[in-house]
Amino acid sequence: MVERMLLRGAQVLTCSGDPDEKPLEREVLVEGNRIVKVSTSPIDVDAASVRTVDLHGATILPGLSDAHTHISWPLDFVFDHDGVAASPPNQHILDVAAVARTFLESGYTSIIGAGVLQHDDDLLAKDFIDRGLIPGPRIVPSGPMVTAPGALGADGGMMDVAADASTMRDIVARQCDDGIRAIKLFISGDGIMPEFPSEDTYMNDEMLEAAVDEAAKHGAIITVHARSAESVAMAARTGVQLIHHACFVDDDALSALEARHGDVWVCPGLHYVYAMVHGHAEPWGMTPDRLERSGYSNELESMVESLRKLHASGVQILAGGDFGHQWTHHGTYAAELQRYVELVEMTPVEAIHTATRNTGPLLGLEVGQVREGYLADLFIVDGDPTEDITILQRPERRRAVIKDGAFAYVNPHRYP
Ligand SMILES: [Zn+2]
Repeated sequence: MVERMLLRGAQVLTCSGDPDEKPLEREVLVEGNRIVKVSTSPIDVDAASVRTVDLHGATILPGLSDAHTHISWPLDFVFDHDGVAASPPNQHILDVAAVARTFLESGYTSIIGAGVLQHDDDLLAKDFIDRGLIPGPRIVPSGPMVTAPGALGADGGMMDVAADASTMRDIVARQCDDGIRAIKLFISGDGIMPEFPSEDTYMNDEMLEAAVDEAAKHGAIITVHARSAESVAMAARTGVQLIHHACFVDDDALSALEARHGDVWVCPGLHYVYAMVHGHAEPWGMTPDRLERSGYSNELESMVESLRKLHASGVQILAGGDFGHQWTHHGTYAAELQRYVELVEMTPVEAIHTATRNTGPLLGLEVGQVREGYLADLFIVDGDPTEDITILQRPERRRAVIKDGAFAYVNPHRYP
């Protein structure tokens, strides 16, 4: 028999689209892994065949999503990509499992990989999570990042290197055959490595079109590290689905993004740059001098301005971005939403949408709304995140996480 569960005594934020939605008292009936009814009046059920859970005034919102994750970065990660890549795989994969669990316990029920440090990190974690062997979110798995000769990461041995469209097609096909569903390309520099400025653009239209075309044959998406305006415009006009960073957006880039309305998503990683510029990384060697050379301060200003433009023109923005360094520690993922409220002038609900309803269509899953027929991925917190967005990043406010219709995490400090 299919399990039925009635959640009552809760305020529900449905994320149905109203940017000023307030949580309202509602009951939610879950059957198997789906939400079958959401009602402002009591739902009449046969008590003997339904498990009723009283949430004592907590808020239910959709499970959150992060569209730019590196579960390869352990909980104590600093900036040592090479060290992690070379670490013993058995130790490393347990670090990865701990990170997957941290995402879930932080209310994140879906994540999109943005590149790994050991080839199978996302694939192995996804396999074990999907089989119910370890706790973790739904994962769209990524593999090694793909860069171009002479570009950022090309000589480190950790990335795949594509020189032309045909090599690109081969790399994408091979990654897809391995089960990878989010292929990450480096198409711009990153000022944190000053010899590869953020304003530099790598690859060309032909290579990106080949990547998008090959990925589509396997039901996979292309994601790009794109900081320069030129790289953002190129990604938008060649059909790339998920554009990371978009720190610089000029008129060309903006109109290319607008032309693909509903079919392209931007995931900025704003908190990461904010934390760097505000000195949070200084204890770990990101000195004012290195920061100065990175150009990040200028980049943060440009990012905020770009995001305001994108938001105003209705481009879909997804939360996420390089969490896992000590200055953007695993578990603090929802700090990204706080920055959208503070810096991009989103309402708290709009910020929450970037981690809920905006992601479902890209994932091809009915997630991100508390709505009949949708998957029962839910986050239960104390307090009203539309009044105080920071609630979502406070461990003591987390009561429970439901994934696929079942309690996947219950805060041991709250229950029993
Ligand atoms: Zn990243």
